[in-house]
Amino acid sequence: MKYALIIPDGCADEPQESLGGKTPLQAANVPAMDAVAAAGTVGRANHTPAAFPPGSDVANLSLLGYDPIQQFTGRAALEAAAQGIELGPNDWAIRCNLVTVEDGIMKDFTAGHISSPEAAALLKSVQEKLGSERLEFHAGISYRNLLIYRGEGQPAPFSPDTRGTPPHDLTDKPVLDDYPRGPGCDLLYRLMSETVELFAEHPVNAARRAAGKLPATNVWLWGLGSAPQLRPFAEVYGKRGAMICAVDLLRGLARLIGWRSIEVPGATGYIDTDYAAKGRYAVAALDEVDMVCVHVEATDEASHEGRVDEKVKALEEIDRHIVAPLHDALNKHGQYRILISPDHPTPLRTKTHAHGYVPFAMAGSNVTPDAAKSYDDPTANRSTLVFPEGWRLMGHFVGD
Ligand SMILES: [Zn+2]
Repeated sequence: MKYALIIPDGCADEPQESLGGKTPLQAANVPAMDAVAAAGTVGRANHTPAAFPPGSDVANLSLLGYDPIQQFTGRAALEAAAQGIELGPNDWAIRCNLVTVEDGIMKDFTAGHISSPEAAALLKSVQEKLGSERLEFHAGISYRNLLIYRGEGQPAPFSPDTRGTPPHDLTDKPVLDDYPRGPGCDLLYRLMSETVELFAEHPVNAARRAAGKLPATNVWLWGLGSAPQLRPFAEVYGKRGAMICAVDLLRGLARLIGWRSIEVPGATGYIDTDYAAKGRYAVAALDEVDMVCVHVEATDEASHEGRVDEKVKALEEIDRHIVAPLHDALNKHGQYRILISPDHPTPLRTKTHAHGYVPFAMAGSNVTPDAAKSYDDPTANRSTLVFPEGWRLMGHFVGD
């Protein structure tokens, strides 16, 4: 039996006036997704327990079949795994965004989508000025970087109650009240404020300003996490899997559940990603593993920017270049199942993640079709196939 899971990140949404009262999934031309719905079932699941902020970290852990309430230890720990950074029992990983704050307002949580080489140069200066045996700054992809706190045999100053606000929740808002809070927050606050001076005259920013681009004004620390203990997917669900994605979060999750990540040239984690290349690599992976998961970030990025046209376009690209060829290939393999589901809603109205149910469509061997004829939010909202604990959907998908 072969399996494919396709995750259009954040694609669930509300009806849009500009789409004639339709949701992006309803308005998008997605014949391949609708074919899955017509051949199988449409339902809804909740991957964002109220106990946590509605992030891709919690929601994708749930979508991969792990109970976040029991298993989630923080976003940055997943990203550290992606970079192959080992965390000891007293170590903590902390997400380190490069951001643009102007007059106390979060202008851009991506520092104008700063390039990875520019980010690495800034992080190098931070390490030289503020780093130590205990504090390691690790450059990642573009604005997404990490700070690792080494506990070295003594308890770290942080706890699960240490919280930072995701900067993508602060777009166009004042930041003063959203600095880290809880045990150890004073250290994080000091590091964040000391980078303001360090970055003010930094040559990378001088060049960006001269080119009319947003500067990185400081680091923003959040998403703390200690080492997670996840049982291998093959042990829990008996399937060997592979991940196709372009963001560290999913690479880290894949590594922690014993899956390998397949790197696809041209996959960017943004709306300019190479959808066709992701589809080709996914089809090829079916020859090697039982389950392939394709995560696409473009739908979430379009939502964070409030761009309805780009969200609809991304859905249509996913349909044409990923869902259609994968469903064809699965059919040729014989026994198969396919599942399409986002992780959480990212409403265009708020430009940020939201708690709530998301629609899924599932079809394949021994899946008894229901009445659904299309894959979209309203159809899922009418369905009686509901998973309040979303992580249980994986068991349903692989067949208990
Ligand atoms: Zn997400």
